Formats: sequence, C-alpha cells, structure tokens
Amino acid sequence: MEEKVIDETKQGQSLTLEARKGNTRKLFIESYGCQMNFSDSEIVASILANEGFNTTTQLEEADLVLVNTCSIRDKAEQTVRKRLEKYNAVKRINPGMKVGVLGCMAERLKEKFLDEEKIVDMVVGPDAYKDLPNLLKEVDEGRDAVNVILSRDETYGDISPVRLGTNGINALVSITRGCDNMCTFCVVPFTRGRERSRDPLSILNEVADLAKKGFKEVTLLGQNVDSYLWYGGGLKKDFKKASEMEKATATSFSQLLAMVAEAHPKMRIRFSTSNPQDMTEDVLHTMAKYDNICNSIHLPFQSGSTRILKEMNRQHTREEYMQLIDKINEIIPECGLSQDIITGFPTETEEDHQDTLSLMEYVKFNFGFMFKYSERPGTMAARKLEDDIPEEIKKRRLTEIVDAQQRHSAYHTNRSLGKVVEVLIERESKKSNAHWSGRNPQNLVVVFPKEDYKPGDFVMVKVTDCTSATLIGEAIGYSENN
Ligand code: SF4
Repeated sequence: MEEKVIDETKQGQSLTLEARKGNTRKLFIESYGCQMNFSDSEIVASILANEGFNTTTQLEEADLVLVNTCSIRDKAEQTVRKRLEKYNAVKRINPGMKVGVLGCMAERLKEKFLDEEKIVDMVVGPDAYKDLPNLLKEVDEGRDAVNVILSRDETYGDISPVRLGTNGINALVSITRGCDNMCTFCVVPFTRGRERSRDPLSILNEVADLAKKGFKEVTLLGQNVDSYLWYGGGLKKDFKKASEMEKATATSFSQLLAMVAEAHPKMRIRFSTSNPQDMTEDVLHTMAKYDNICNSIHLPFQSGSTRILKEMNRQHTREEYMQLIDKINEIIPECGLSQDIITGFPTETEEDHQDTLSLMEYVKFNFGFMFKYSERPGTMAARKLEDDIPEEIKKRRLTEIVDAQQRHSAYHTNRSLGKVVEVLIERESKKSNAHWSGRNPQNLVVVFPKEDYKPGDFVMVKVTDCTSATLIGEAIGYSENN
C-alpha cells in the first residue's frame, strides 16, 4: 500500500519567483518533506536573491542547484539520492553547475554527505542559511563547504521570504523552529535543534506585507505551534528563570493567534502542527472567538495505545487525547480534525493496533497522514528498541488504518451534502479546467464550476455531491468576507 505523502502537488517541483533585474546567476531549488522545508526554501531564495541569483525551473541552465531534504523516513532520503543521480547526469552537459543539499538530511549526515555523494559541493543545515553567501564563495573557489551548526536563537525573523511558485493567495509564515519534545521515533530535535519562538512583531510585519500583496490566507507554521512562547528571545525551557517583567509581557500561542486575527480581520488564518500534550484550552477559545481563524486542527496522535505512546515518549495518554477531542468538539463544534499515525512501532501488538483503530472510530478524522514505522538513525527508538514488527504485518495494519480513514473521510463529506460552505478559491481544479478548487474553513477541498469567480474570491458553495476526499458543488454567491 502506497504511503500517503504530504502535499503531493509541490514535492520536488522547482518553484520560481519573479526575476530580479541585474541578477545574472541562476538558482534551481526544489524541496521535499514538510511545509517547514517549503517555507525555509523561500528564505533561502530571498538570501540568494541578494547574492545575484534568480530562480529557474530549468535544471540544465542552473549555476546552483539546491535540494531541501527530508529525513523523516528512509524513503524520503532515498528520494533525494535519486535526485542527486539526476543532477549527476545533467552535470555532464552543465559542468559548471554547483550542487548543495539543505535541510534535515544535510543536518543528519553532515560532512559524510560529501563522501557518500560526490556530486555534492555544499552541505547546509536548517539553521545555517544565512551563511550561504560565504559557503558559496568557498565553492566558487573550488572547495567543498559545510555548515551544520544548530542555533539556539535563529528564527530568520529578519529575512523577508520570497514566495516560490505561489498562487498569490496562501502563504506559509513560520513562527517557531526546532522541537524539544524528543519523541523516540523522530529525527526533528536532532536535525532542527532546540525549540525557539519568533518575535511576534516580525510575524505581524510578514503577515501585513502579505496582506498588502493581496494574499488571503496564512498558515502559521511550526513543528509544535502550541508551545510558541515569546518573552524577548529566550528558550521556552528557560521561561521559569525569566524576570517578572518578561513573564508579564510574554506572548503565548493563543495571544499570537488573536493578535494576527485582530490585525487582519479579512485574512484567513490556519496553523500547523499542533501537539496534544501542549495544546491549551485558551487556543480553542481564541479560535471560537475569531471568525477568520479557520476551524481546523491538525492533531497528530501517532498511536491509540497508551503503552505505545509511552514507548514513543508522547507525553499524553489515549484517554487524555480523547478528552482533548471532547473539549475541541464542545468549544468548536464542526471543527475539522486531521491526524498523523505511525503503525508498526516496535513491540506494537494486535491489541495496540486495535486501540489505534478504535480511537480513529471515536474521533472520525476528516483526513490524515499514515505511515509505517521507519527506524531513523540516531533516534531514541533506534538506539533502544528493535524494529521487530515484520514488514507484511506493518503493511496489513497500514491498509486497515488507511481504509478506516477513507470511511471516516467519506462520512464527513457525505454529511456536507446539501450544506452551504464558504470557499477561498486557490487554483484551477486538477481534474477540470472548467472548475475552481479551494478549501472550506474545515480544510476540506471543494470543487465547483468557475462561472465569473476568480482565484482569491471567498465564495459560498452549495454542496451537491462528494467523493471521500472532496466536496463538489455550485457557487451561490460571494461570501460576506469577500
Ligand atoms: S513533537 Fe515529536 S514528532 Fe513532532 S517534531 Fe517534535 S519530536 Fe518530532
């Protein structure tokens, strides 16, 4: 069974931005993995635009090729190695081309990447992008260049990202970097370092700039947005030692949400990714208070078994997760919920697997991202636990989980038949150039005939049909938010 990957549309596509006059060098940049990587690539493109680079979608004509890599599963790394082979072939017809690897795989492998992949000239970790101009000088002088130093305070808050391959409607705005949670299966704390929050002022400035440019929706981004806490740049783990003044003037995630919602009442606001162990009720009340904060929460639970959650070092139980879901449904009825699940984690029994299926039945998520456990070098699980679940059992359990999710997705789309939903038009439908595609506040995709509407419009759509993943309907007029 094919594993469900995040955001199929943009994986690996080289995205471009409008050319800057006077820039003569060409950058080909492609990204893999989570939205954090796509957001980082926009920061990298901004830094390199100041170094004379315009982006290109033509690999063959690139002076510099950068691949922003993911290390979350072995398959993600194999994908990158295949791309490097492709670059190798192109380098024969474009010998001056330089190649750099960015992101989590670069951070995990460090200098070893240069030994393992001869085509690679430069290895840059997620916290070292500001050093790119210096590293490029070394490469231009014929030396390999590496910077994989992780930072305790870098948030790139002073860099104005340039939007790559954008539709001019939705944009990603990062609010935290790194993660302190140390889930035993996860590489992120090792590849992205300690958790740090970005200055709310620089976040508000970035959203204001996007609003001026006509963007209609922002997604506030972080590995774990619920633990956002700004108190002058200190790390969350040191908050106890903060001064009374710092504590009194600190900005929490719910406060940041309210600040953005109030400053831009016409802007749709989403956020990702939440964490059940850090999510607080005030975030839910803030979502309920502001119409422009979308009623959808991506809330990974990974496993429905409290014993496995403990092995994963997830700081919540099955019961606590279900209580949080009850709280969400109480404060935000009709909230769209999505999940992440890992099946086949070491020592997982059939009973643990049934706990996952029964929790899915209890919540009935709108959609989710479901994976077989992939042992990651250097993680606690890899060090302490044998990857003991046979591949065929992992596959069978994943099939059952994906089937259950399909049923629950269809349950929600069918419940929407006959209803009227507000849709922000994002692009042309993938399946028909006579139809627009957008999402409702619950993050469900809605498709309907174009008529005289255009991308960026908020439209009220009557749902007349559906698939398990998509709502299909007819526009009945503009939304009052248009
Ligand atoms: S919360 Fe856990 S799974 Fe998520 S990024 Fe942090 S360590 Fe990884």
